[in-house]
Amino acid sequence: MKDVLDDLKIIKTSQSRLPQVDLSNLTFGSVFSDHMFVVDYIDGQWQEPRIMPYGPLPMEPGAKVFHYGQAVFEGMKAFKDEQGNVFLFRPEMNFERINRSAWRLAMPQIPEEFFMGGIKKLIELDKDWIPDGEGASLYIRPVYIATENQIAASVSRNYRFMIITSPAQSYFSGEVKVKIEKRYTRACHGGVGSAKAAGNYAAQFMPTQQARKEGYKQLIWTDSKTHELIEESGAMNLFFRIGDEICTSPLYDTILPGVTRDSLLTLGRDHGLDIKERKITVTELVEAAEKGELKEIFGSGTAVTVLPIVGFGYEDKYYPTPQLDNPLWSVLKQMLMDIQYNRAPDPYGWRVKVL
Ligand SMILES: *Cc1c(COP(=O)(O)O)cnc(C)c1O
Repeated sequence: MKDVLDDLKIIKTSQSRLPQVDLSNLTFGSVFSDHMFVVDYIDGQWQEPRIMPYGPLPMEPGAKVFHYGQAVFEGMKAFKDEQGNVFLFRPEMNFERINRSAWRLAMPQIPEEFFMGGIKKLIELDKDWIPDGEGASLYIRPVYIATENQIAASVSRNYRFMIITSPAQSYFSGEVKVKIEKRYTRACHGGVGSAKAAGNYAAQFMPTQQARKEGYKQLIWTDSKTHELIEESGAMNLFFRIGDEICTSPLYDTILPGVTRDSLLTLGRDHGLDIKERKITVTELVEAAEKGELKEIFGSGTAVTVLPIVGFGYEDKYYPTPQLDNPLWSVLKQMLMDIQYNRAPDPYGWRVKVL
């Protein structure tokens, strides 16, 4: 790491908000820790980065992000072990991904020292905001937007990269049912589906809201042409256990390449599970469910880690998965969390110690 950030301008908060926060009772993503990292890019030059108290920043209503949606983001977590050491999990994957997302949206590349250095300095400053307990973490949200004050529909000249953090408890959502979407599309070939672009979420909300009225938590997105190939769900990649094979879709350009997905594939393979990346069709899933061969469905993502799904809807039918005594999702989740929380050896070098 270059030490460009050694003389980083830091304006500390005069009064921490932490005493007003109950870290054991948090709604995901709604409380922010004391500080944020901000750096602007203006006319081809990165400006001086700074850390300052979390709070509103002035923006011109003409800023391009509001009009043309040049915005990408990341989602990561910092984990605290029992001795109080703090680790990131495969942060270089998120760094590379935000720059691939930025490239797709014609935004300049973010220097590594801003991304990694910004996160490390923030965690140092706000370490007391990392909650304790099983599954708890400090959620880290890097976000990158176009700020030029000009509403011509063209690429922005100015940008702002920010990092904010939010204490998070273990994700809990009750029983999760998903519905296979046949009409709307999250992403199409040649589009921006594999970028973590803000607009991908905006496009999901309305169809997801409709499914929620029917009791589903999320949609399973299918390919835009035939609606026959299974893609992913909300902010999760999807895994299916059919018989004793576990499968997930290959990475097309319509699918976000999840860090959690990649980690589960590696862990599963190294523990002798039959875990594959292959095409999965809606017809196959319905048939497997009808024959009793569909054993498990689960999602993977930084926010949820691994999330079991109790069944899926398709057309007007609901297909439940069986209740298993030793589901594979929980074996995989445990292996992943043991590495994240420094309870197991890390042969892959995935943990990065920050404190
Ligand atoms: C972020 C995201 C995921 C999960 O990626 P992780 O790196 O595992 O957190 C999956 N799908 C979509 C659409 C996402 O935005």
